[in-house]
Amino acid sequence: LKEMNARSVWHPMAHPADSHANPPTIVTGASGVRIKDVDGHEVVDGVGGLWNVNLGFSCQPIKDAIAAQLDALPYYSIFRGTTNDKVIQLSEELRTFFEPDGLTRAFYTSGGSDSVETALRLARQYHKIRGDTGRVKFLSLKKGYHGTHMGGASVNGNANFRTQYEPLLPGCYHIPAPYTYRNPFNETDPQRLAQLCLQALEDEIAFQGAGTIAAMIMEPILGAGGVIPPHPSFMPGVRDICTRNGILLIADEVITAFGRTGSWSGSRHWGVQPDFMCTAKAITNGYFPFGAVMIAEQVAETFEQDASGKAAIGHGYTYSGHPVGAAAALACLAETQRLNVPENATARGEQLHQGLLALQAKHDAIGDVRGGHGLMCAMELVSDRETKSPIDKKTIATVQEVAYHNGAMVRVSGPNIILSPPLVLTREDALVILDALDAGLAAITG
Ligand code: PMP
Repeated sequence: LKEMNARSVWHPMAHPADSHANPPTIVTGASGVRIKDVDGHEVVDGVGGLWNVNLGFSCQPIKDAIAAQLDALPYYSIFRGTTNDKVIQLSEELRTFFEPDGLTRAFYTSGGSDSVETALRLARQYHKIRGDTGRVKFLSLKKGYHGTHMGGASVNGNANFRTQYEPLLPGCYHIPAPYTYRNPFNETDPQRLAQLCLQALEDEIAFQGAGTIAAMIMEPILGAGGVIPPHPSFMPGVRDICTRNGILLIADEVITAFGRTGSWSGSRHWGVQPDFMCTAKAITNGYFPFGAVMIAEQVAETFEQDASGKAAIGHGYTYSGHPVGAAAALACLAETQRLNVPENATARGEQLHQGLLALQAKHDAIGDVRGGHGLMCAMELVSDRETKSPIDKKTIATVQEVAYHNGAMVRVSGPNIILSPPLVLTREDALVILDALDAGLAAITG
């Protein structure tokens, strides 16, 4: 299998030749919060699939819903003229679920990148409907990750994901992120740093001209960029600046929606109502590729009350509102609420965060520990704590590998080790992850 994989599979986010030198783990099974590989190892999944398997791998109600839907209606499009019962039921449930966020309509997609693309397009269209045709630019945060479509890549805050694919969408500008460990202001106080980043946002808007900007897109807590929670004043500050300048706020909650932050959404976590919210990932717990862009009431009304014809939507996917995906999402939403996952996410998140801080006291390689907002934590590894020089790829890969052989799968993203386990993790599972990391770190420090 390893040879065939190297010969025939190109992996996302990896060098195509890498599978020869470093054969990937071949996962052949999973149950609860554990995955099994072809060599017989069974480990706690500290990654939660890819931030999406919030309820673990054995969610019977979702499996039953998918099986029943495959019998009833495996596919039909919801392009103009047809719909299906499951997508209607799901939309009503999502409307209730996201009502506190001010979001009342759903536009369906096949995943996170599609959700981002949808929100960017609808944001431009919103301004066109209002006759504000100059508003075409987008703002986003450095270190933000917004998927890999041309639009999403353009607003991506990490240049490594952009440069190979340029020219991208013109008119995209990236604002410093409230990242206390490293920032251009050398500011370590989270509140003062939030203020400086907000000022940078104001300055960029003034420089570009407010009337040229369609939307600001941001993750409530930066995820793939290394789990960077901002000071609580930051996202409300962004909301305020956007509102004052007629700029729409797109919350990219592909990771944070549905409980991961310890709140039902990342926007709610910070007390903010966005104009669009991109969701995907945990919406079906990984059982089906699916996503939804939730739309604020006032944006929806602008589209729905337009008489000029400009609001007709020239955008959508074959699998928008897929009935099997909708059935999976309905069952997933019910189970997510029944289990009240934010509560456990908060408790286990706190345990992991404290555990990582204890590891930092023991291992010099840990430069920074981030967490404290549900089950998304990270540690940033350095080769020297004083100079903060990033750890090299080979050393961090060793930490990951040794952790795996000590019972836990963890994710490496640049110099960071990221933890985003299922939200149903137990105290014992969390201890397995921490002990495995301890072993991994011990292996590089001798
Ligand atoms: N936005 C965010 C915040 C994400 O974390 C991701 C995926 N990690 C995406 C968008 C893209 O989602 P997908 O990989 O499902 O296209």
